[in-house]
Amino acid sequence: MLEIKNLTVYYGHALALENINMAVPEKGLTAVIGPNGAGKTTLLKAISRIVDPAQGSISYKGHNLLKYGPHKLAKMGIAHCPEGRKPFPEMSALENLLVGGFVLPSSKVQARLKMVFDLFPILRERMNQLSITLSGGEQQMLAIGRALMVSPSLLLIDEPSLGLSPLVVDELERIIGNIKESGVTVLMVEGNVDLIRDLPDAVYVLDHGSLVHSGTVSQIMNDANLAKTYFGM
Ligand code: ATP
Repeated sequence: MLEIKNLTVYYGHALALENINMAVPEKGLTAVIGPNGAGKTTLLKAISRIVDPAQGSISYKGHNLLKYGPHKLAKMGIAHCPEGRKPFPEMSALENLLVGGFVLPSSKVQARLKMVFDLFPILRERMNQLSITLSGGEQQMLAIGRALMVSPSLLLIDEPSLGLSPLVVDELERIIGNIKESGVTVLMVEGNVDLIRDLPDAVYVLDHGSLVHSGTVSQIMNDANLAKTYFGM
């Protein structure tokens, strides 16, 4: 579904990603892990065209993504759930979701909203609350729900577990598992072992802007050096 070749990104003169090659197959979950500053968020931002690469290519369903601006991507079926959730603070939960659904024909919005509320029943209860008054876990669910309103084929999720309690992380694991089962292809940046242990079909490890390893979770966990370096185990 997604093929990245020789991707290099700079911020000014600072190299953030160097010669990244990776492939994200359809209908699975691919995880990207690595220490702070490794370039994980930059990778998602390059895919969703928020940052421009200096070189390389990104192909999505055979289309050269670099030809498109970020505003076109939602219509192409790519949704980005950003690090730190970033709800629109002065909008209610419902309004946030409706913004996510702007690409849908109006006849499809209510059905999509129902699907999101069925996945996150707490958002139905909280729909008229200002988004910033929601708890961290609820805001994360809102951010994922807003991205799902796009009706994406490819969902990019950046560190969904950030700052959340283990109980909420368990709930997120179940929900992200359901999203994967529904056939949405997921590319998730995540460092929390609890969220990485069972969900991914493949894991890429970034470090200092370079891809240093790829494999399955068990391959990484069974390698004492990798497990210690990247999972602190
Ligand atoms: P974290 O886990 O802390 O979110 P990350 O792996 O997602 O880190 P990035 O946020 O992609 O890493 O950052 C990669 C590098 O690029 C870091 O050295 C970071 O300081 C730098 N960087 C990120 N955003 C910018 C920016 N807007 N301007 C300049 N440098 C940036």
